[in-house]
Amino acid sequence: MGATATNVLEAQSVSLSYRHKRENKPVLRDFSLQLKAGEVLAVLGFSGSGKSTLLRILAGLRSPDSGKVTIGNKILSGPHPRVGFMFQDPCLLPWLTLEDNVAFGLSFKRQQRISKQEKLERVQSALQEVGLEDSADRYPSALSGGMAQRGALARCLARKPEILLLDEPFSALDAVTRSEMQQLLLSVTKNHGTAAILVTHDIDEALRVADRVLLLGGQPASVAGTWDLTGQSRSTNNPMLVHTRRDIVSALRNGRSDSRCDMPGYLTAVPA
Ligand code: ADP
Ligand code: MG
Repeated sequence: MGATATNVLEAQSVSLSYRHKRENKPVLRDFSLQLKAGEVLAVLGFSGSGKSTLLRILAGLRSPDSGKVTIGNKILSGPHPRVGFMFQDPCLLPWLTLEDNVAFGLSFKRQQRISKQEKLERVQSALQEVGLEDSADRYPSALSGGMAQRGALARCLARKPEILLLDEPFSALDAVTRSEMQQLLLSVTKNHGTAAILVTHDIDEALRVADRVLLLGGQPASVAGTWDLTGQSRSTNNPMLVHTRRDIVSALRNGRSDSRCDMPGYLTAVPA
């Protein structure tokens, strides 16, 4: 990713409140973000801070009350064909084989029409990229959690996305599988120049994969801090990384009135 890369996604002063029993609950206020081509951005925040809400807005699944999201200079008005999503749950359809699940990603609304042959090629190359070419005929029930998440990633990749939006996709996986998935995500974004926004509540995951870390904080939430890690070694004894981690922890502490975050590697649920 070059320093002069263009922005592929922009959010400008986005605000959103949920309405519940005539009450208004403001969740995001005046949130702005610029994502460059090929950039991997991690969005960190406590559980309940509005990360999934933000991602749904960036995915065009929900309109903000005010502000706007633009992709390639066009205002987003619904799901975009060049944007892929991945959630904690791989959401594979149990009655379809893995191969058919991946192909299913190509029949989304607004997806560009492609020939049968190209569809086949895209599915095969996506399965190969995630290392599941030998499991194409399996049904989701015969896949481990990690394999199912690889399948979900393949379903995104077959669509040749320009941007991946990932909502805590690895948080249900064991540590080894999680680390393999983080590496896979990095190689995929690098190989295709795909930008990604990875929502996570794991500081170390953010520090391992991101070019830039954004902390969502406050109530309603907005940008509480950003840290640029472009070009940094991810070795755990890189002093800059150690310093950044400390800085993020301190920003988290400042954003909270209690002192729950003594060692917040994992930002779990906070009492209201
Ligand atoms: P996070 O992903 O960071 O855990 P969410 O975006 O899911 O946070 O939620 C932010 C806040 O908005 C939470 O307090 C949550 O309870 C509330 N919320 C989320 N979705 C809805 C909804 N559809 N209606 C009402 N409140 C919601
Ligand atoms: Mg969430």
